[in-house]
Amino acid sequence: SRFNQYFLMKEKDVVDFVLEKVDFFDSKSHLTCAEIGDGNLNYVYRVSDKQSDKSLIVKQAGHTARISEDITLSTNRNKIESNALIIHGKYAPGLVPKVYLLDEVMSCCVMEDLSDHLILREGFLKHEIYPLFAEHITSYMVKTLLPTTDVVMEHKQKKLLVKEFINPELCEISEDLVYTEPFNNYHHRNEIIVENKDWIIREIYHDNELHLEAAKLKFEFMNHAQALIHGDLHTGSIFAKKDSTKVIDPEFAFFGPIGYDTGNVVAHLIFAYINGDTYHKGEFLDWVEKTIIEVIDLFKVKFSQEWDGSVTELLAKETGFKEWYLDHILADTAGVAGLEIIRRIVGLAKVKDITSIEDTDSRVRAERICLILAKNLIKRRNEFKAGSDYTEALHQAI
Ligand code: ADP
Ligand code: MG
Ligand code: MG
Ligand code: MG
Repeated sequence: SRFNQYFLMKEKDVVDFVLEKVDFFDSKSHLTCAEIGDGNLNYVYRVSDKQSDKSLIVKQAGHTARISEDITLSTNRNKIESNALIIHGKYAPGLVPKVYLLDEVMSCCVMEDLSDHLILREGFLKHEIYPLFAEHITSYMVKTLLPTTDVVMEHKQKKLLVKEFINPELCEISEDLVYTEPFNNYHHRNEIIVENKDWIIREIYHDNELHLEAAKLKFEFMNHAQALIHGDLHTGSIFAKKDSTKVIDPEFAFFGPIGYDTGNVVAHLIFAYINGDTYHKGEFLDWVEKTIIEVIDLFKVKFSQEWDGSVTELLAKETGFKEWYLDHILADTAGVAGLEIIRRIVGLAKVKDITSIEDTDSRVRAERICLILAKNLIKRRNEFKAGSDYTEALHQAI
């Protein structure tokens, strides 16, 4: 087989690959294939058979990032992603795409086609409401995160899993882009609109108290192997429709702080809110506000319930331990939410919620609101204990 050695596939190759490797389509099917990737790193193909109306997705990792030949990355990231999807599917069935095949030679994953869903960020840009989102995403997070902590998982088994998910290159991307570069433009990759340049130099580059807190949070990210986290849980990694939510793209997965995932979800809800605020979308704003509150408060309730039902570590049953543990997650959540907001405005990788704002004054305003809120989230992270703490801080910043 010509698939015994890695190469970057084209549409035609993907069709042959699927027919040879996956028992999904009828062998007589006339398959069509299109590249539909819109992310930064990988190639995503949709293969479909008009006759049977069946389709699937093939995601392949290349040796360089999709957006830049200068960024070289091990194709091993696809194995991390596929195995994370398989584990997540076991803990949180229905909340991730089904994996049909992981091919380690071709560094690709064949999975369920979710084209009947919409990428959540795209839905948010249209100010669409997803009534069950908070319910679904908090279930996803609690069900995938808690079972892989030392609270629940047998400790030797967990250590083996930590080893399996050592993810140095993608962790380095986050360490650089989220924690380091936004504060000092170390690699000269930051991108700031000229109208906010002086303001950002003063408020971000010259705020040494902020830098110290970012440094503490960076070491939390690098050294706290708390749970198998998704690692890239923004609204571009979530597919949604009214009655369903599916989380994709866990190639940044590793054992890190739980607050990294929860904080990302909150940060990107805040971007959706600021976009909705810019365009005066009242009904959407009410829903996003309610959703921010529910994401935090439902997470706490479900985490606590799931803990009681599944804790195995003896000392984790000590009175007050669960509350201490959850408090730590909540502080991380606020800190990471703040960092994620800053890096998406100051750093290399932007979000459409902000960049699609064409009017300059509105864009300047939106960015400053985000950054003021973010600084608060980072510096006062120990004070964000309930969903309403976030929405109060948000209203203060506006
Ligand atoms: P990257 O790692 O490059 O960011 P993603 O996994 O985020 O790649 O996928 C990029 C895009 O491909 C998604 O935004 C979505 O449009 C499409 N896509 C990815 N997975 C699926 C899927 N299972 N079903 C349908 N479309 C998908
Ligand atoms: Mg992606
Ligand atoms: Mg400094
Ligand atoms: Mg990705």
